[in-house]
Amino acid sequence: MDNNKSAAQYIEQGMAVSGDTYEALAEAMGVDVDAFVETMNTWNQAVANGVDEEFGRNNGMDADLSTAPFYAIQIAPGIHHTMGGIKINPETEVIDTEGNAIPGLFAAGETTGGVHGGNRIGGNAVCDFVVFGRIAGANAATFAAEEALAPAA
Ligand SMILES: Cc1cc2nc3c(=O)[nH]c(=O)nc-3n(C[C@H](O)[C@H](O)[C@H](O)COP(=O)(O)OP(=O)(O)OC[C@H]3O[C@@H](n4cnc5c(N)ncnc54)[C@H](O)[C@@H]3O)c2cc1C
Repeated sequence: MDNNKSAAQYIEQGMAVSGDTYEALAEAMGVDVDAFVETMNTWNQAVANGVDEEFGRNNGMDADLSTAPFYAIQIAPGIHHTMGGIKINPETEVIDTEGNAIPGLFAAGETTGGVHGGNRIGGNAVCDFVVFGRIAGANAATFAAEEALAPAA
């Protein structure tokens, strides 16, 4: 806790709960008290033994969790980035299944796929939606202006 600035922020924002005992923390979390106490005791024993028999773990076990106060925060999985999506050309025109550009349909950003190749390097999504977003916006505006000027069919 002393070395974790993010955790201090989470506590300040009320996103984490704390307790001076395992029982108090379990109650603050709203989980089964007996099961939580057993889990914590099992972990502390595993650290003392240097091996976690339950999960076959034997590294990263330098510290047990026996010094109060105890803190807990809810962690949930989230989607960071979706690879794949609508195919575009360098002008951000959407490409149909025959490989042809669909007139007037532009796309950019995470909804598109293939721009990053097989893997996205961290940070490139920002470049992706800024660079291709500007191209798409400009091209869509030009297309709309040309359409407006075109004689009615
Ligand atoms: C926690 C987290 C951290 C990230 N960190 C980084 C990072 O450090 N660097 C990096 O490069 N990338 C990062 N990413 C990925 C990056 O943020 C996204 O890839 C990027 O924001 C996608 O931008 P976008 O404009 O394409 O899509 P979005 O930001 O998803 O915008 C799509 C918009 O369309 C709207 N919309 C959806 N459906 C409709 C509809 N039917 N009609 C009208 N509007 C609609 C949505 O409300 C939304 O506003 C991170 C993502 C997450 C979740």
